[in-house]
Amino acid sequence: MQTLYGLKDAGYEALLVGGSVRDLLLGLNPKDYDVTTDADPEQVQAVFRRCRLIGRRFRLAHVRFGPEIIEVATFRSAPRTPDEEVPDEDAELDDEFDEALEEVDAAPLSNGLDNDHLLHESGRILRDNVYGSMEEDAFRRDFTVNALYYDIRDFAVVDYVGGVADLEAKRLRLIGDPETRYREDPVRMLRAVRFASKLDFVIDPSAAEPIAQLKHLIVDVPPARLFDESLKLFLNAHAEANFDGLRHFGLFDVMFPTVAQALESPRGELAEQIIRLALRSTQNRIKADKPVTPGFLFAAFLWVPVMDLAQRLREEGATPVDALTRAAQDMIAGQVEHVAIPRRFSSMQADIWHMQPRLEFRRGKRPFRMLEHKRFRAAYDFLLLRAQAGDADQDLADWWTRFQEVGQEERQAMADSAPASPGGAPSGRRRRRKRR
Ligand code: ATP
Ligand code: MG
Repeated sequence: MQTLYGLKDAGYEALLVGGSVRDLLLGLNPKDYDVTTDADPEQVQAVFRRCRLIGRRFRLAHVRFGPEIIEVATFRSAPRTPDEEVPDEDAELDDEFDEALEEVDAAPLSNGLDNDHLLHESGRILRDNVYGSMEEDAFRRDFTVNALYYDIRDFAVVDYVGGVADLEAKRLRLIGDPETRYREDPVRMLRAVRFASKLDFVIDPSAAEPIAQLKHLIVDVPPARLFDESLKLFLNAHAEANFDGLRHFGLFDVMFPTVAQALESPRGELAEQIIRLALRSTQNRIKADKPVTPGFLFAAFLWVPVMDLAQRLREEGATPVDALTRAAQDMIAGQVEHVAIPRRFSSMQADIWHMQPRLEFRRGKRPFRMLEHKRFRAAYDFLLLRAQAGDADQDLADWWTRFQEVGQEERQAMADSAPASPGGAPSGRRRRRKRR
């Protein structure tokens, strides 16, 4: 609010816009507040002491009030590009942008737009940094309910696109021609699913129907942005509903082809159960304000595929440890082509996988070493989830639960009396050596 008044006092227009207006009108608690103004970023900076300009191609101002950062954007006329969503991680977009620029230099596109608008031949927008009027600013947004403005001067909602009516009808409608808008930015298809579950809205048939034809366009979205979107979809209080929505439209299969394949395989039921349990536990943790990590979730997504591949490699003669290592590398390499999971999360994913067979060894010093492992807690949680899905021994899971609860003496007793060799554990080599 101070941001709005600060700009007003300096003689500029300033309005609340987007998700925050939508959420306020729905009686929800907005995640963050976006402000738009006719002041350009430098002018915004001149008004506020604690203000930083961000974004390489489209410049935004971040105004800080204590712990809160308010994003202030200047009215713009073209549909927005993705870079605004991830201002610090748009290197890939820049590459694409440069490539597209070369294309444009070679053969100018006759799309009628001036030089500051750049369309890919697919119709995808790669650059838009043209300032415009507030009305133009409304039309470049995605859904009508996301294009409402709130003017503090007169407490009025400004609606150029019929957003208020759609809000009342609980309906997600794209502004303009749906197919064009999806082609401009295919991520809008994912956003449709996400807002439908978050707001408990229906996707208007005009916005739902084109998805079947256009879902493959998701393949061209930079993997870094898809990772970002998948966090918004799955590290979310509506994670399972989003999973169902994406599956329904076939969008999940484009983002996670290996997982989708596993879901259709003979072990599909188990794969699905593990994914659902992980999504539900994520939801519950979010609702309880507990931390969540994408590493755990992605470990669950790819658990059945990674085990099946490891099994195949063992049949081809690889040792169990080698098979799992190679399968894990393979899975992660395949996945990051679509959804770029940063290394800190994929390494956690791999650790969780690698620790599963190791959790079967309970005799001697090994369980104590496991307990010290920095990923123990995640691996243990994953074991619980597998047990729940019938993929691991419930007794084993219970043993680990108890092992953590009891004191040192009893732990020792538990480790001393544990079975010497776990059934079906992959460390056969070691076991044989012991027997000799
Ligand atoms: P959330 O509650 O998830 O933050 P939001 O509506 O605030 O929802 P943001 O991704 O934060 O969504 O974007 C803020 C606003 O920017 C949106 O309300 C919409 O007006 C506009 N916007 C965001 N992404 C796009 C897009 N891909 N295409 C068009 N407009 C977009
Ligand atoms: Mg937002």
